[in-house]
Amino acid sequence: MKVELRTLVERSVKKMGKGMEAVVQASALELIERAYTEGIAVQISAGYRSLEEQAALYGQGRIYSYNGKNYSDPGKPVVTNAKPGQSYHNFGLAIDFFIVSDDGRKAIWTVDSRWRRVAAIGKKLGFDWGGNWRTFKDYPHLEMTGGLTYTQLQAGKKPHLTNLFKKTGTPKTEGNRQIMFIQKTVNSRYKTNLAVDGFSGPKTRSALLTGLQTELNKQYNHRLAVDGKWGPRTKAAMVTLRKGAAGPITWILQAALYMKGFDPGPLDARFGSKTIAALSKFQKASSLSADKQAGKETWHTLLA
Ligand SMILES: [Zn+2]
Repeated sequence: MKVELRTLVERSVKKMGKGMEAVVQASALELIERAYTEGIAVQISAGYRSLEEQAALYGQGRIYSYNGKNYSDPGKPVVTNAKPGQSYHNFGLAIDFFIVSDDGRKAIWTVDSRWRRVAAIGKKLGFDWGGNWRTFKDYPHLEMTGGLTYTQLQAGKKPHLTNLFKKTGTPKTEGNRQIMFIQKTVNSRYKTNLAVDGFSGPKTRSALLTGLQTELNKQYNHRLAVDGKWGPRTKAAMVTLRKGAAGPITWILQAALYMKGFDPGPLDARFGSKTIAALSKFQKASSLSADKQAGKETWHTLLA
């Protein structure tokens, strides 16, 4: 995916506003992250909405005043039936999502299998989905009510919500996510059929090799069998990468280093200082000469 997860999160945080309930906000961000690891770019278009903002929304398509202020906007179509205090958005307990294109530039509002997948992830995190409502279906809408009615919330009652997911941040969880990202990327680039499970093993390593063989054939006109197996022909065809290298083979090097437990930082397909640092550590740990280059022996130790 071209758009960065960070971009989706930053845009969404802005749209949700400051009045979000903490668990709902955290779950919304977890939703974005989980969808991202499955290759779906999601953003939040709305979160907290003040009573005045709700009044302005309700006034669209109607003659309406609230607290002595005129919110009438009859020229527009009706967008909501919820008056101020009658939407969980007013209490920071609801979000609306939409899907964006892989480059992050276009909003996609089609309710298709990907959309429903996002809703399903939301449900796992404890949200109720507006697409399940009987009368008026609100497909972008996800809410956590904590079992409270609008009346109770208006009276100042607070819901007791709990995170239904483990907080990320432990190295193991992060590792899993990065490996899921590697698996996902390899699948989409090289048509491998890896399970995207976040655990690196022989299958993931073999898929990386498939990618490597594909790239060597493409970029250097080799005629290697693309079989995902390390052998003398693949070894002989390996190129030496050094500082400044960039492109898919560099990306594969970074992914392979990461899978060996040597974190090269963001997998950006550039052979920069973080990749050099990870490579040096790997070479020292493997009793290779730490020459800061990925040559045949280094590739062999990484992938054989
Ligand atoms: Zn909504």
